Amino acid sequence: MEQKNTWETYNEQQLEALEELASEYKEFLDEGKTERECVDLIVNAAEQKGYRDIQTVIKEGGSLKTGDKVYAVCMNKSVAMFRIGARPMAEGMNILGAHIDSPRLDIKQKPFYEDGGFAYLDTHYYGGVKKYQWVAIPLALHGVIVKKDGTTVEVNVGENEDDPVFFVSDLLIHLAQEQLEKKASKVIEGEALDIIVGNKPFIWGKDDEEKGEGDKKKKKKNAKEAVKKGILEILKNTYGVEEEDFLSAELEVVPAGKARDAGFDRSMILAYGQDDRVCAFTSLKAMLDVEETSRTACCLLVDKEEIGSVGATGMQSRFFENTVAEVMNLTGEYSELNVRRCLASSCMLSSDVSSAYDPTYAASFDKKNVAYLGGGMVFNKFTGSRGKSGSNDANAEYLAHIRRIFDEGKINFQTAELGRVDLGGGGTIAYILALYGMNVIDSGVAVLNMHAPWEATSKADVYEAKRGYEVFLKEADL
Ligand code: MN
Ligand code: MN
Repeated sequence: MEQKNTWETYNEQQLEALEELASEYKEFLDEGKTERECVDLIVNAAEQKGYRDIQTVIKEGGSLKTGDKVYAVCMNKSVAMFRIGARPMAEGMNILGAHIDSPRLDIKQKPFYEDGGFAYLDTHYYGGVKKYQWVAIPLALHGVIVKKDGTTVEVNVGENEDDPVFFVSDLLIHLAQEQLEKKASKVIEGEALDIIVGNKPFIWGKDDEEKGEGDKKKKKKNAKEAVKKGILEILKNTYGVEEEDFLSAELEVVPAGKARDAGFDRSMILAYGQDDRVCAFTSLKAMLDVEETSRTACCLLVDKEEIGSVGATGMQSRFFENTVAEVMNLTGEYSELNVRRCLASSCMLSSDVSSAYDPTYAASFDKKNVAYLGGGMVFNKFTGSRGKSGSNDANAEYLAHIRRIFDEGKINFQTAELGRVDLGGGGTIAYILALYGMNVIDSGVAVLNMHAPWEATSKADVYEAKRGYEVFLKEADL
C-alpha cells in the first residue's frame, strides 16, 4: 500500500490554516510546560468559548440541555469538557482523550544542599528519560509552593530572555575516559541529576548583626553553607517562602526556551513536552471548534500518564466517571444504569504520540508498520510490548468505522506500531477507558526523538490531527 505525503495534498488556503494552527500550538507549548499551566490555558480557552464550570452550575441548581458546554477540573491537573449533544447521553458520547504531563525532573521535598561552593536543588526524575540528555542544557523551573496558611506561590523562572536558567553539570571530555566506558543507562545516574542554582556566598552585613545573626559563632557555622543561605535569602525576598515550605511544593525542572520551527522549510516544530501536548492541544482545538453534534462531545485531558495513570488526577481515578454522573444528573438523565450505558456506548480516540520512523535507527522499526513524520494522523490498533502485553487492542469493526468516517472527511491518516516486535513498547490511557466496554482506539501524532528534552513533530500532522478530531466528534457513531 502506498502512503502519500500529507504536504502534497494541500492547497494555498490549507497551508495558511496549517501555519496559523502551528503558531497557536507553539504558543500553547510555551505557556503550558506543566500540567497545571496546561489546565489554566485549557480552562481560559474553554471559558472564552462559553464553557462553564460544572461546580457553578451545580451550586446554582442549574441544568444542562443540548448545546450547553461545561468543564470539570480535578486538582488543577486534569480537566474534562462536555458539549451536550442532541441525543440522550445514555446512547453514548464521542470522547477525545490525551495527557498533559510530560517527562521532566521534579524537585525533591528537601532539595537544598551545598557542595564545592555550589548551591543545588536535588531532583527525582518523572517518567521515562534518557538521563544523559538532561545535562549541560539550560533548564527552567515551573510550579507551585503551597504555604502552611494555604496560599500558593507560583514559580516560573528561566523562560524570559532576561531570566536566569539552571543546569545539571557534566564531566569535561578531557577527564571522561572512565565515564565514557559506562553503559548509556549508567553514564549519568538518577542522583546525579541535581540542578545548580547558585555559586555566590551570602555576605553578612550590618543588618544581620542587628538581627543577632552576626555573632561570630553563628557566622562561622552559617559560613559553611553561605551559598545556600544566599539562595534562601533570594527566595524569601522574591516569593516569601522558607526552606521548610519546599515540603509542600510541586516544582518541575523543564528545558528552558520556546518552541521553534525546524528545518529550512519550517515544516517541523522542535519543542519540549510535545508528548502529549500535541494531542492535547489538537483535541482541545477540535472540541472548541465543533458545532452541533448529535452525540455529546467530550474532551478529557489528564495527568500522570507518564507514570502509569495513577492517583486522583490520573486516568485510573474515578474523576471522569463521577463527572459523567454529574453531567447526566444535570441533563436529567441520571441513573446508575444510564451512566453505565453512556460509558459502554461511547466511542473514544485515546490520543498519544506515536514513534516516528527514524532512518538513523532504521533497524528499530518495521518500515511497513511505522508512522512517518508528515504522514498524517496516526492510528495504533494496539500498543503494548512483548506480544501486545498491556495493550488496548481496538476492535476491527471500530477501526473499519473510523476508516470510513476519516476517508469521507478527507483526513490523511496512517496506521502504525511503536517499533519492531520485542524491542520495547509502551502504554497509554486507552486500556483504562476500554474497561467500560466502550470502543477505544489509540491515535495521535508522530514524534521524532520522543521523551528527549526537545521533540520534533510535523506541522502537517498537527493540522491533520485537529481536522481528524473534529470529524470524529461529529461523525463517530457505533
Ligand atoms: Mn504520551
Ligand atoms: Mn510518553
